[in-house]
Amino acid sequence: MSLDANNSNVETNGEETISKNFIEHEIDKDLSEGVYDHVVTRFPPEPNGYLHIGHAKSIVLNSQTAEKYNGKFNLRFDDTNPTKEDIEYVDSIMEDVRWITGDLDMEAVYYASDYFDKMYEFAIELIKKGKAYVCDLSADEIREYRGTLTEPGKDSPYRNRSVEENLSLFEQMKNGDFTDGSHVLRAKIDMASPNMNMRDPVIYRIAHMTHHNLGDKWCIYPMYDYAHPIEDALEGVTHSLCTLEFEDHRPLYNWVVENIGFEVPPRQIEFAKLYLTNVVTGKRYIKKLVEDGIVDGWDDPRLVTIAALRRRGYTPEAIREFINLSGISKSNSSSDIAMLEYCIREDLKLKKARMMAVLNPIKLVITNYPENEIEYLDVDNNRENPDMGVRKVPFGRELYIEREDFMIEPPRKYFRLFPGNEVRLMNAYFVKCEGYDTDEDGNVTTVYATYDPETKSGNGFEGRKVKGTIHWVACETAKRVTVRLYENLVDEEKGVYDEDGNVNVNPNSLTILENAYVEPKLFDAEKGESFQFVRNGFFCVDTKDSTDEEKVFNRIVPLKSSYRPAKK
Ligand code: ATP
Ligand code: MG
Repeated sequence: MSLDANNSNVETNGEETISKNFIEHEIDKDLSEGVYDHVVTRFPPEPNGYLHIGHAKSIVLNSQTAEKYNGKFNLRFDDTNPTKEDIEYVDSIMEDVRWITGDLDMEAVYYASDYFDKMYEFAIELIKKGKAYVCDLSADEIREYRGTLTEPGKDSPYRNRSVEENLSLFEQMKNGDFTDGSHVLRAKIDMASPNMNMRDPVIYRIAHMTHHNLGDKWCIYPMYDYAHPIEDALEGVTHSLCTLEFEDHRPLYNWVVENIGFEVPPRQIEFAKLYLTNVVTGKRYIKKLVEDGIVDGWDDPRLVTIAALRRRGYTPEAIREFINLSGISKSNSSSDIAMLEYCIREDLKLKKARMMAVLNPIKLVITNYPENEIEYLDVDNNRENPDMGVRKVPFGRELYIEREDFMIEPPRKYFRLFPGNEVRLMNAYFVKCEGYDTDEDGNVTTVYATYDPETKSGNGFEGRKVKGTIHWVACETAKRVTVRLYENLVDEEKGVYDEDGNVNVNPNSLTILENAYVEPKLFDAEKGESFQFVRNGFFCVDTKDSTDEEKVFNRIVPLKSSYRPAKK
């Protein structure tokens, strides 16, 4: 056994090398000691916003863990707090989880609010056991009585109420006899505990609010630290995987499941959150960008919400690979978005057709090519994947090429078109630049060239070599489209946030090119379909703004990067 980069042990099992993370080691131990005889995990989002790449880590970790152990994975809406929740989010979360996991067993979708009756009954049992009491202190007083990290707390004057009195007060709380904040139910644990979470935490509060699922049925709501372990236990969750900030809450989690007396209590294990360097991941910050109109909704392709990544053209396979490459650990660290970009490139490389599209066009006229003639050239859809077949691409006397593929006075090592130079037109012929036109301002408007019919691609021409290859589309058959290019939403030089907590937005995060030309086949592309545009990157037809008349392509990622993942 040895340690790899992700701090996980590598075991060799016959031919296969299995790399296990620390959570899997804990699960193995639990199974071998008979603590559990199966595995159930869950992803427990609060329906108060859209999911982002950080949540994807939790989804992938929980669902893959269940899968590895032939266990069960639940999606549970943690809808215990009516102040922030919205039904709108339930549907989007469901869609996102289904997309990331590739499937979602609808029988494994639960709502914490369905357990409110049970939670209430358990609270009554705790009162009867002398383990919970109704407290009349105000929120401020409770805070004062709680003490500090260095000083113990003081007992509430209501701590020793009789069971009968507590039962009757709790019932009155439930019946709506009291105003918000006047009473709470607290667990009776230890006001001197070194762990502040154990100093008689509040487990129920009064809130006269309408719940998205249950309407006005309840005016008391359970607190997260009380509700969460019960939700896990009722669903038969064995391993409750959560992020590190809950480590200090684990003793309370255990207190709840022990004192309620679940026979097979779930076990909480914490892992480090996923952070991305120079990327906005916090729900709160994303929400503000949306509300301030800085981005065009929660699915703006510059964001890292799951909806945005999907719209941008990311695949669930690439996201899962990224999560796995980032690793599961106990210490916080930040991953590079370049690694996510690497994963999508690798995923699309052999799957997507390599098409020709010119983003910033100028005209190239081949003066010795017959007028009004279009010939159809055979082009491999993906040279590295012959199974993808061949398509016909129209070629003619007038073509569009990229503006940056021509220069009047080239610098050294510029191998593309300039007066007197010869290049290959990708999949077609050699052309030699013979001249150009400019407008009054000196901008090049048209480039002139002659072609050599002997040099047609696939004919095995060996007479001479050229150093540059450029792509093109034939003017007569090309279609005009809109192309959107993205840079990081964050101005990396300034850092993510300014002193007021606003995001430092990169003014170049979005470039819209309204005059791009694509080969005709691309005009039939469906919303959400993606392609490689040779030399320019991977692009996806926008699912929102693209129409039959006005096609819009979003760049998923450029082709090149210096990033390579560390060897596993
Ligand atoms: P945010 O940080 O955006 O406010 P949250 O924790 O409030 O997210 P929840 O709906 O409570 O959002 O999250 C559901 C689950 O996703 C929780 O178990 C939480 O621990 C996990 N999660 C949230 N953010 C991350 C992250 N960056 N990395 C890994 N897991 C995360
Ligand atoms: Mg949360």
